[in-house]
Amino acid sequence: MKNIAVLGSTGSIGTQALDVARNLPGEFKISVLAANSNVELFAKQIEEFKPALAVLADESAYKKLKEKNFPGTQIAGGRKAFIDAATFPEVGIVLTSMSGFAGLEPTIKAIKCGKNIALANKETLVVAGEIVMKLADEYKVKILPVDSEHGAFFQCLQGEDSKSIKKLLLTASGGPFRGKKAEDLKNVTVNEVLAHPTWNMGKKITVDSASLVNKGLEVIEAKRLYGVEYDQIQVVVHPQSIIHSMIEFCDGSVIAQLANPDMRLPIQYALTYPRRMKSPIKSLDFWEMRDLTFEKPDCETFKGLKFAFEAGLAGGTLPCTFNAANEVAVAEFLKGRIKFSDIYDVIENAMIKREVRQNLTLEMLIEEDSATRKLSAEFIDGR
Ligand code: MN
Repeated sequence: MKNIAVLGSTGSIGTQALDVARNLPGEFKISVLAANSNVELFAKQIEEFKPALAVLADESAYKKLKEKNFPGTQIAGGRKAFIDAATFPEVGIVLTSMSGFAGLEPTIKAIKCGKNIALANKETLVVAGEIVMKLADEYKVKILPVDSEHGAFFQCLQGEDSKSIKKLLLTASGGPFRGKKAEDLKNVTVNEVLAHPTWNMGKKITVDSASLVNKGLEVIEAKRLYGVEYDQIQVVVHPQSIIHSMIEFCDGSVIAQLANPDMRLPIQYALTYPRRMKSPIKSLDFWEMRDLTFEKPDCETFKGLKFAFEAGLAGGTLPCTFNAANEVAVAEFLKGRIKFSDIYDVIENAMIKREVRQNLTLEMLIEEDSATRKLSAEFIDGR
């Protein structure tokens, strides 16, 4: 039985991870549950999975949770307790399914305690890939990608030498606005943005998918995980989301991973690795399947991808700047305070104004993150 900590258990990936555990009884012990503020769902999860430790990062949510009684579960609250949840002794794998920059510190702590990481928090690798991959190496922990595309790369690489990669073919659904032009993007509504054609995900990542910022973050994530150069990463728009990504090897062979789009599959593979186990994912029906099609991404309209390549190539603090500006912009867009196309302006402004610094430390990243948030908030207020 594998002992698991689920950080971000009430979010989209967290709830689906618990569903994976539910479908494979006896396989996992959920030792730790941690979430931000959804008391009601969190309380139900504690009752069902009876973790040894349960943590809510939000203090007032924690106070409400504490009013209830959960025999056998230690309850804690606050940001520090959330970070420490990643280091709980009996845990072997930490699933990092919280969203955004907030995932960085717990991930680093978990690695330093020798925990394997099932990594769903891509922002961690984007802003601090240099630091995180080096630490993973030093502490001999595995980074098991949960992102469906990187999970696909991971599967394609089993039994292969990553030195024989010629090209990572990173697939993208193209999101709900595929084929649209800059003019069309100006007045799209929050609801239109949240109606993703193929994947059911949390709000932040759904907005990122529509802007192609998500694909940009994934380009940087892929670079960090597999050590290729940026010109070896090719984004391929594949609207049906059946191929989850492909690798071209040095001999010209392309290996792809296919399945119906369901996040429980990459989550399960990361958690059961190196074993494969049965899952409720529906078989692909090749008689019923319509065309699988492929297109070039439109980087002039969906500038998220272009900015990510620029940030990745410059390196240092710039991926952190890119990410922080986007996090602010997405939150403001979801509140209805800025337009969808403004997201690009917020990112561009930050990337122009913030000076790029190299030789990263965690402190530098924390500072860059908060400086960029401040700059971006001022930019939004000042328009
Ligand atoms: Mn993905």
